[in-house]
Amino acid sequence: MDNHTPELEELIKQFSKLPGLGPKSAKRIILKLINNKENMIKPLAKSLASVYKNIIRCRDCGNLKAINNKCICEQNINSYDKICVVENLADMWVIDSSNIFKGYFHILGGTLNPNENYDQKNLLIDSLVKRIKRNNLKEVIIATSATVEGQTTAHYIEDAIKSNKIKISKLGQGLPVGGEIEQLDDGTLISAFKNRVPVSSD
Ligand SMILES: [Zn+2]
Repeated sequence: MDNHTPELEELIKQFSKLPGLGPKSAKRIILKLINNKENMIKPLAKSLASVYKNIIRCRDCGNLKAINNKCICEQNINSYDKICVVENLADMWVIDSSNIFKGYFHILGGTLNPNENYDQKNLLIDSLVKRIKRNNLKEVIIATSATVEGQTTAHYIEDAIKSNKIKISKLGQGLPVGGEIEQLDDGTLISAFKNRVPVSSD
């Protein structure tokens, strides 16, 4: 099985990097694609090229948007009074589909690493502060994971926004230690939202 052409080797290598796929399942997918060149490879290549060209991350809210369109965060100003801060898109998707939260989302794009001198250059924290002011928000719910990185990030955000005299809360009981938001089931997530705890400001 290891006498693939370089093109196929490269494709297997790329697919093997995807979450949940190892070389074995990557080969199975590629075999399926090769056997359906016109019906599967062509539209897939077109769709990937289009996403590569047209989809970017919004610098204000962290969500994905089409390059020529306004982001959802620019369209629905003053619709809600709460904002939920998450680490990544997957976290937003699980919270959104649980229907526990109605409000804006803010996607940081990762967490702070406590070992790397709180390097926050890639996280959208400054733009969070701007969005809070612009939208007259009343509450910020910090929904970072119950990991060391997630909690470090939460503290950093609290410090960055507390001068705005806004209610800050964090997800509460029910969130397992070390738990990542995107792994939680709806029940746990809903209870963590309902039992969210105010962050004491000093
Ligand atoms: Zn946006």
